[in-house]
Amino acid sequence: MVADVSGQHGGAIDAHARRRPRVVIIGAGVSGIASAITLQRSGFDDFVILEKGSDVGGVWHWNHYPGLTCDVPSHLYQFGFAPKPDWSQVFAPGPEIQEYLADVVDRFGLRPHVRVNAEVTAARFTGSGWVVETGDGTRYEADFVIAATGVLHHPAMPELPGLGEFTGEVLHTARWDDTVATDGRRIAVIGTGSTGVQVVSALQPKARQLTHFVRSPQWVIWAPMWLPQPAAIGVALERLPRVNRALYQAGMTGARLFTDVVTRPSWRRRAVQEYARLSLRAQVRDPRLRADLTPDYQPLCKRQVLSGSYYRALNARNADLVTDAIETVTPTGIRTADGRHHEFDLIVFATGFKAHNYMRPMNLTGREGLSIDEAWAKGPRAYRMTAIPGFPNLFTVLGPNSPTGSIPLHHAAEVTARYIAEWIKRWSAGEFDTVEVTETATARFESEVSDALEPTVWNTGCNSWYFTEAGTIDLLPFDRSTMETMLAAPEDVDFHLRTVPTDD
Ligand code: NAP
Repeated sequence: MVADVSGQHGGAIDAHARRRPRVVIIGAGVSGIASAITLQRSGFDDFVILEKGSDVGGVWHWNHYPGLTCDVPSHLYQFGFAPKPDWSQVFAPGPEIQEYLADVVDRFGLRPHVRVNAEVTAARFTGSGWVVETGDGTRYEADFVIAATGVLHHPAMPELPGLGEFTGEVLHTARWDDTVATDGRRIAVIGTGSTGVQVVSALQPKARQLTHFVRSPQWVIWAPMWLPQPAAIGVALERLPRVNRALYQAGMTGARLFTDVVTRPSWRRRAVQEYARLSLRAQVRDPRLRADLTPDYQPLCKRQVLSGSYYRALNARNADLVTDAIETVTPTGIRTADGRHHEFDLIVFATGFKAHNYMRPMNLTGREGLSIDEAWAKGPRAYRMTAIPGFPNLFTVLGPNSPTGSIPLHHAAEVTARYIAEWIKRWSAGEFDTVEVTETATARFESEVSDALEPTVWNTGCNSWYFTEAGTIDLLPFDRSTMETMLAAPEDVDFHLRTVPTDD
């Protein structure tokens, strides 16, 4: 078992002359779960999953704001190795996804490997492996580290002047407090990404007054997010696993269309964009409100928002849209740049995430003392989303340039985890002690990505969380088969493989 330094661990070579790798996985969300199960299926069982939260599930554990629904169809938003036939809705509600992930952890026997409330504060490369430390001072020795730390993890909270003086309640959607009352109250929601749109739709019906503060409007494509999946379909798919599998494959094939639409200009992209414009025109009749809700950039440029209820919520008598800049928060509300004062009992920040932090602020130190902050001084970078020069025997899953905006994420995590497992198999066979991607290969990958980002819709003139502070787009501009080919097998020429001399 991966153990803290004072404990026992599996040692080096077993009876079949295969080494038993010790692996620390950081994070028990979608990518951590995919990594653990992939290791298990490759025959490795000496791994520990260190999870900062009090339960598994990652983003689905942390987020439980009212209205949370996944806008990716449920049959695609699941692991290929753990199909769930009986989703309650075509677009599953958040708690059901969290239940699914917890159930997968149980079914695959991962619980004994998971340490919850175990935030990794430091990880240091020793020359042959890693020492990983959690907040309570526990240390783990590992041959490999898999950073499955997520993208949308650190809530972004704007520092609005006067916020500390507000006498009502303040919540960020990603740290929702279920004990805070919302019915019958005057609520401000700030931010209009997928989260803001969902929370406005959910809170408006029972709020006394709901005001949505929108700095830059988003295109909101109409979709029936509430569509139930009849129970009989779940029962039938349960009995017919092949049909269920075919449905998943059909979904994956359908998802190609989406990748195509966002990565290449075509009539298909224009058709989807026209549908976004129509969604606004058809649902918002008031010309002033419509003008206020019309973005000044192309549909699909930001992460596309889907909703069948947002515009209806804004059309309600108890709802208001405010596009004037927020000047200050006062003890009783918000003052906007036009001088108006809006009174509130509750301010909800739906202001998103610091999406490019990845494993930071962890104190991560690679070869020769290189820190991750130094390595990423110009923004996060990784060869094929997973390997970082200067950090041997460490891989990321859903790391920099992962296809968060274009390819089903569980699948991307599974493909990456299988790639990592291939390296670990070779370590186990004694081919090398450390593996580190070359700077040349990483720079080549970056250049390929940069060229391919050119014609993407993300690059058509909007500001979104896809952009890093350095102005690069942190997404994968390739289709699924290109991603699968990239990660099909390790290419030795792109890596330094080293053996570490032993004392004897
Ligand atoms: P987001 O898309 O980054 O949106 C943040 C919003 O907050 C933007 O409207 C932004 O305005 C606004 N904002 C930030 N700082 C502000 C300030 N100081 N004053 C006023 N407005 C401010 O965040 P998100 O909605 O949480 O979504 C993040 C991602 O999570 C999504 O894109 C999606 O990938 C994922 N998500 C998925 C689902 C799902 O159903 N699958 C649901 C929720 C979220 P500007 O645009 O002007 O910066």
